[in-house]
Amino acid sequence: MNPLIEEWNKKKNSVFSSNKKFLSKLTKHKSKALDRFAEETHDTVFAKINCLECAGCCSSIPPMVNKTDSARIARYLGISHTDFEKKYLKNDEDNDTVINQTPCPFLQNDNTCSIYEVRPKACRDYPHTNHLTFSSNLSYHAVNALYCPAVYHILENMKKNIPV
Ligand code: SF4
Ligand code: SF4
Repeated sequence: MNPLIEEWNKKKNSVFSSNKKFLSKLTKHKSKALDRFAEETHDTVFAKINCLECAGCCSSIPPMVNKTDSARIARYLGISHTDFEKKYLKNDEDNDTVINQTPCPFLQNDNTCSIYEVRPKACRDYPHTNHLTFSSNLSYHAVNALYCPAVYHILENMKKNIPV
């Protein structure tokens, strides 16, 4: 197994509180420079972790699906929008529309996504650490580090390099 994923498995729970504290202090440092550093760190970590050897998000977090996503995916699958919604979607406890099962029904045995070209925007954006969106998603990163080894390592790197 990838040693970075092994490390994450061993340590992800024990750093949850320190990650929350660090991210709460980072709110004072929100800036373009912080987002740029997060993006560089994201690229460094993802150069060492291949999502196809993980699939943690697709296995455990039902992604949000908006109307544009569902119309696009239904068209790709060759079924009606209504049938797609009935078969694959539900409203969660926050009343967000999400995929109705985990692991995701589109996740295949080799960890590829059977609707990759038309996957929901939420899947494309996850784990919200690049595209200069790190600062605007501070409240998600501690929980995401429990599900995503890349977020865990991005935060470990940032904790070492950013005095808060
Ligand atoms: S739609 Fe594809 S990328 Fe999104 S959770 Fe399902 S398998 Fe993963
Ligand atoms: S949990 Fe993170 S590392 Fe794993 S597949 Fe999802 S984005 Fe990639």
